Amino acid sequence: MGEPVCRACHGRAGHLVLDLGEQPACDYFPRSDDPGPDPVYPLQMWLCSMCGLAQLVADPTMREEPRGTEPTALVAQAADAVERVAAAGLLAAGRRVAEYGSPHGGSWLGLLTRRGLTPVNDGEPADVVLDCFGLMHSADQAASLAQRVARVATGGVLLLQYHSLETIVRRGQWNALRHGHYAYYSTTALAAMLAAHGFSPRKAWRFELYGGTVLLAASRDADAAGESDSSVQLLLAEEARVGVLEPAVLGGLQRQVQTRANGLRDWLVAQRQAGNIVLGYGAASRAIALLRRAGVDRTLLPAVADASPAKEGLRMPGTDIPVVSPSRLAADQPATVLLLLADLLTEVRAAFPDVEAAGGRWVDAETFGSCQAGVAPLPGRS
Ligand SMILES: [Zn+2]
Repeated sequence: MGEPVCRACHGRAGHLVLDLGEQPACDYFPRSDDPGPDPVYPLQMWLCSMCGLAQLVADPTMREEPRGTEPTALVAQAADAVERVAAAGLLAAGRRVAEYGSPHGGSWLGLLTRRGLTPVNDGEPADVVLDCFGLMHSADQAASLAQRVARVATGGVLLLQYHSLETIVRRGQWNALRHGHYAYYSTTALAAMLAAHGFSPRKAWRFELYGGTVLLAASRDADAAGESDSSVQLLLAEEARVGVLEPAVLGGLQRQVQTRANGLRDWLVAQRQAGNIVLGYGAASRAIALLRRAGVDRTLLPAVADASPAKEGLRMPGTDIPVVSPSRLAADQPATVLLLLADLLTEVRAAFPDVEAAGGRWVDAETFGSCQAGVAPLPGRS
């Protein structure tokens, strides 16, 4: 494989900052009776020295993930975001809207049409062009951003929402890196990408989703919509402090890979030795690299429960761990449920009260290797 070429600015100078080795396509869920081995591909992140975009190096995988259920955290955040953008005066009734969605769901169109905005047909200009976790799924970042900005009508706004690279770095979320996700945006890099199209960020909102999600409003410089406000300046300053453009800082993710994987494995081994039943919850694509780096198989984690009927009867890619129905949580009465998607915590505790009623607890798989595992506090106890 030759040197990477930046997906945004086509620069060739950059640094490999994270290498998760050979990993199966995260959306390739084989049947549980498929003995494997599953095909694997390199999974690497590269940081462009020219524009600062962190990106997936190569992606030979081309499969469709069984569509999961839409987490309520995502739905709640969409409603929150629409409220906040509307409060800023950007979602007036009568405006035209175009949405670039994510293949994982989470459309805002319903919310926006209820506010009186009008969806336009494919390719038509719009006053509000919205991209909610969509752009990251484009292999050609330059072409896809060009397509979006071209549809912004005079005086219009481009809204881009993304899991922030600053969050990924600050929280050590190395397993955000996955096949099919081509770009990992800092606001700094995105501002540079927008500048190439004569756009500038004007306002930013932050959300707790995925530990730190940013919604950025950008508009054309020619529209003279004014300077960026303090929300954008704050984000840029914070990113400069964290060092989102510095290869050595992003390289810190690599050190956390084995720390977290070892932490998870040691804990699972201890649970097995103590005779405690542990089940997983959330057949999430982002859990796959963690389970594989930790060498977790069904002797340590007998099953992962998931609410999506489409994933039942399948197994976690690259492991022998089957995906099962959530009814197993009640049947097996696990001492611990290892939550593989932290954003689901509130939702699953409410949906499966039997776990805690039987004395079990939920543990966030993303916190192993840090000071302590994120054990969810039980309500009414301390
Ligand atoms: Zn670049």
